[in-house]
Amino acid sequence: MMIVMKPTADEQEVAAVVQRIESVGARAHVVVGDELTIIGAIGDREHVARLDLEGAPGVERMVPILKPYKLASSQFRHGQRTVLDIAGRKLGGEHFAMIAGPCTVESREQTLETAHAVNAAGATMFRGGAYKPRTSPYAFQGLGQEGLRLLSEAKEQTGLPIVTELMDLRDLDDVLEVADVIQIGARNMQNYSLLTEVGRSGRPTLLKRGLSSTLEELLMAAEYVLKEGNESLILCERGMRTFETAYRFTLDLTAIPVLKELSHLPVVVDPSHAAGRRDLVTPLSLAAAAAGADGIIVEVHPRPEEAICDGPQALVAGEFGYYMERVQAAAAVAGKVLSETRLAA
Ligand code: PEP
Ligand code: MN
Repeated sequence: MMIVMKPTADEQEVAAVVQRIESVGARAHVVVGDELTIIGAIGDREHVARLDLEGAPGVERMVPILKPYKLASSQFRHGQRTVLDIAGRKLGGEHFAMIAGPCTVESREQTLETAHAVNAAGATMFRGGAYKPRTSPYAFQGLGQEGLRLLSEAKEQTGLPIVTELMDLRDLDDVLEVADVIQIGARNMQNYSLLTEVGRSGRPTLLKRGLSSTLEELLMAAEYVLKEGNESLILCERGMRTFETAYRFTLDLTAIPVLKELSHLPVVVDPSHAAGRRDLVTPLSLAAAAAGADGIIVEVHPRPEEAICDGPQALVAGEFGYYMERVQAAAAVAGKVLSETRLAA
């Protein structure tokens, strides 16, 4: 349920509504907008149904949130989009973010070389996995804590915020030492205890859509993070499983405008895992940017033929500058500006 306060409502009136919501065992999420304050009452349906705030001081009206996801819904923000500020880099609204880096942190040389290359080309953030969700338990599983250390060195040297995946709750504290954005991978999209803890951590989070998940399932997973009070959440379309086998997954471009219609959260696209092939990464990135994505997360390697993981889909670091220029032009078509450029301006 949403309680829309009158434009004249004061702090005491808002506090009284919050108290009333909590007294029936629901949680209150206060969103102070430019013109209106909206209070979300989130909890068990029976608890929320017991609220009767029509006519209470400062209350304009009560509006039910019709979708099963509440805090993630566009309705909850009255059409206002969420814009995140991640270590000074904006993402969402008119701000387009380019998150680039290797699939996995392999070595000091490979990590730093890639970080410097993508930074020089104007990337907004650096990605790289220290913990890797591999299909085979016999495949390289990531460098773990040593990988995190190399990521923090990359951050120190370039200033780029770090996006890195968390797979296991036992690694949360270590990942929090380094990650500006915690990535929840496609395979963990519905790992609800992981989502809850990441929500409690308050750290910006990038949530990838599961391999065969509907948009509603993605938004319900987002709700687990938001419900813990973590509003810094990014949704990521990374390709889904279809009957087609000519490429790795099928990038669902339609998800971009539809997620933005259903939710106020920013939407980024991962063309690398969708394509599985380097030659497809540029066209998919251009399409995603032109369709209104708030950013791209893409794999880059200095020597993809030597990559331990996902080499065939990695862009070559030396060619990344030209790729960036083209994607920026496509983002401009959708009215967006690269956030790093804005920072420098
Ligand atoms: C990744 O980003 O390296 C990754 C493993 O992605 P996904 O979870 O989308 O497969
Ligand atoms: Mn990968």
